[in-house]
Amino acid sequence: MVSLNDNIGTVKGIGPKYQELLSKLNINKVRDLIYHFPFRYEDRTKIYKVSELTPNEEHTTIGVITKLNNLFTRNGFRITKATLKDVSGEADLVWFNQYFISKTLKIGDRLLVSGKIDQDNRRPTFNSPEWELIGNDDDELQHMGLIPRYNTTDGITSKWISKKIQELLSIIEIDDLLPASIRDQYFLIHIDDALRRIHAPKDYPELEKSRYRLAFDELLWLHLRGIKIRTDWNNKNTGHKITMTEDAYKTFQNNLGFELTKGQENSIQEIFKDLSDTIPMNRLLQGDVGSGKTAVAEAAILATLLSGFSALLIAPTQVLAKQHYEKMHKNIAALGFDTDLLTSNVKIQKKEFNKQQLIIATHSILHHLEEYKNIGLIIIDEQHKFGVAQRSKIIDHYTDQNIVPNLLTMTATPIPRSLALTFYGDLDLSVIGELPFGRKLTITKVIEENGRKDVYKEIDSLISERNQLFVVCPFIQESQVDTLKTVKAAEAEFEKFKKIFSNRKVDLLHGRIKNKDEILLKFVNGESDILVTTPVIEVGVDIPNANMILIETPERFGLASLHQLRGRVGRRQKQGFCYLMASENIPEGLNRLRNLEKISDGNKLAEIDLKVRGPGNMYGIEQHGYMQLSLADITDVEMVKKTKTAAMDIFENRHKYPILFNALSEMIYIDDQ
Ligand code: ADP
Ligand code: MG
Repeated sequence: MVSLNDNIGTVKGIGPKYQELLSKLNINKVRDLIYHFPFRYEDRTKIYKVSELTPNEEHTTIGVITKLNNLFTRNGFRITKATLKDVSGEADLVWFNQYFISKTLKIGDRLLVSGKIDQDNRRPTFNSPEWELIGNDDDELQHMGLIPRYNTTDGITSKWISKKIQELLSIIEIDDLLPASIRDQYFLIHIDDALRRIHAPKDYPELEKSRYRLAFDELLWLHLRGIKIRTDWNNKNTGHKITMTEDAYKTFQNNLGFELTKGQENSIQEIFKDLSDTIPMNRLLQGDVGSGKTAVAEAAILATLLSGFSALLIAPTQVLAKQHYEKMHKNIAALGFDTDLLTSNVKIQKKEFNKQQLIIATHSILHHLEEYKNIGLIIIDEQHKFGVAQRSKIIDHYTDQNIVPNLLTMTATPIPRSLALTFYGDLDLSVIGELPFGRKLTITKVIEENGRKDVYKEIDSLISERNQLFVVCPFIQESQVDTLKTVKAAEAEFEKFKKIFSNRKVDLLHGRIKNKDEILLKFVNGESDILVTTPVIEVGVDIPNANMILIETPERFGLASLHQLRGRVGRRQKQGFCYLMASENIPEGLNRLRNLEKISDGNKLAEIDLKVRGPGNMYGIEQHGYMQLSLADITDVEMVKKTKTAAMDIFENRHKYPILFNALSEMIYIDDQ
């Protein structure tokens, strides 16, 4: 008996060599092979007569070989040419450097060929077509349908994969974890059927039905996992209650120097509500750059201190940690509490650890966890900059059996609704939907190469009016910043700008520069006019006169990232300017960038990104094992909602489906490893 969890090497005909090749395709178990879906199908639903073959179309035909020969071209290529004949006429078949074909085929063979028909030939010509020998008595129908094509790797053909899957499917029967009642309710075919058909669909409606079932599953499991993790979390305990008195809250508001926006106020109330009961908070605060997340964090911190606990605020960079420190420590001291600042360079520690204090740190906190105790609240700023492992290490350290600290994570990356419902299903979400009153929208312009000179002039005159400019050089990919390349790009750009703006003070800042803080400080104090940098500035620094940002090769960034970068400017009442220096003259690319000229809502931009790029690289969402979405469309909000309802329904009635829930627990367990 073969089972889905069996190692792929146990399957007949798959020895160590194939096992190794398959592992390159992430196929290690029987399940992986069966869930290795075709990426396209060759349409053999109709067989054309030779006379019906149309140039530029992909067609399939059947005929008999009447001629066959090998030719050599002058530059040494070997060409195999054949003539295929049926009752309606003749077609040419041409293969390059596939000598074995002339050894396998012979005149008189009946052959099925399919592929694209060449355009300009006097008779239909197939260039390197797919082919299959058909015996004279064969039933043509058995070669018809939608023929799957699989992703492969050197040494494995799509045909081989198809054959192995068919062999497996003929000896395995797959149980459906979804009960019949649920399948009926949502019009789903049996999983066994779905898997059989996706690999060998008879026609398109059949393919659609199996795709629907399998996509439904992908989203359903994602939801179920979120709901299960959430429920387990709710069974934990903070062991402490955090509340804030009316009076203290009024004092906090009075000290701010501005009115809270509606979104800030709502988020604070949601957080207070979470903090006041004994279920630990696990909330994500999302607010566009400049929306004022820090003030919300400060309210939560004060409540924590006033209730007898310490709070830990973690920032992704030194600069940001320092900035938080500068902003907060006085307010905190006014209420009688100390603040420690802890980065790899700086350690400001008032005295011995106090049971009620604020600790502001970078990831360097990982080396000091022992020194701090009684942590009632952990806040992680710009959460996507932290590795999952770092985060869990901190949280685990302050978790004692079932007593867990409250957790608030903050991000400026917009979270489209469909993602909030799936990947973030285990978190509560607070959103600051607006910017503080009076903030002007940053004027954004996409500049093509011929517009460069004019932009430099415009910038120069703005510098004369005491505005400062960021120049951001691209990097390769959000999640894998290629430091060396960025540094090089920034250095080259720095030289260029020094020449162009020879009468201005230009500085360079990137990750490998030693006196980073000094250079940034010069810029903050207005002693330099132009700061050429890598996208490190994406992260939260606040520089009042830096009102212009020029981004090179913006094509390299997602819209949401560009939006975040432009959030660096126009943070006060001053007008901000963002110049996107397009490096390519490709209409689709330019149009994508022009969305930024028109749209100032980060959420809308993120939705567009999500449609174009998918969730993986945008959010650093770890998709592994069962979590892979290969068929489901995460931007299909209808489907996402429907599957969420189904998941909640199933979860409520979980006592009825013990097998399903065993599988779910197992899957979470596997995933966590
Ligand atoms: P972010 O959400 O990007 O972290 P910050 O918390 O750094 O934003 O706030 C950006 C700027 O806006 C800060 O200078 C802050 O003092 C100011 N700010 C925050 N909330 C308000 C408000 N409600 N009204 C006016 N200014 C505000
Ligand atoms: Mg911030």
